[in-house]
Amino acid sequence: MALLFFKTKNFIPDFYYSNFSEIDFKFFLDMGKSIIFLDIDNTIMTYSEKVPIKSILDNINKAIELGFDIILVSNNSKQRVSEFANKMNFKYIARANKPFKKGYKKAIKLINYQSKEKVIFIGDQLITDIFGANKMEITNLLVNPLKTKTEHWYTKINRCLENSVLKSMRKIDESMYKKIKKGRSNEK
Ligand SMILES: [Mg+2]
Repeated sequence: MALLFFKTKNFIPDFYYSNFSEIDFKFFLDMGKSIIFLDIDNTIMTYSEKVPIKSILDNINKAIELGFDIILVSNNSKQRVSEFANKMNFKYIARANKPFKKGYKKAIKLINYQSKEKVIFIGDQLITDIFGANKMEITNLLVNPLKTKTEHWYTKINRCLENSVLKSMRKIDESMYKKIKKGRSNEK
């Protein structure tokens, strides 16, 4: 499989949370982070939602209160991404083409080329979000996808690839493997 060309460690997230609402942004603030590159679909809302549920929105607002600058970085269309971005007054990159570097670089341009050290990337997919962030050397957080049933066909393919990545991850980082696997088993 093509993915075997890539080192498994590139797909291992730095942090894992079962849900976005559980992320402790104070912890990342204390680490020196102040910017969030944020995926949308299945990270903060399902494909069928236009706004996040309250517990997730509350945590987004907590991050804003702590002073985090949030940039949406999504592979979805401008129409989809701009709707939420405009509501929240966030800058955004739509059709980011994660895991390719270009979208991440555009996001870095949006923060006026501040240091990547200040950034955390949050997403739900190993193959796009985490792989891309690792290639860019951006600290990354994986969350469990909110709802996989409504995913598009190409995301479903990514999920199959994820399973093979997870298998090889087990040999390198068993504790991360177990955490992700446990989260995936609770999927809706
Ligand atoms: Mg996503």
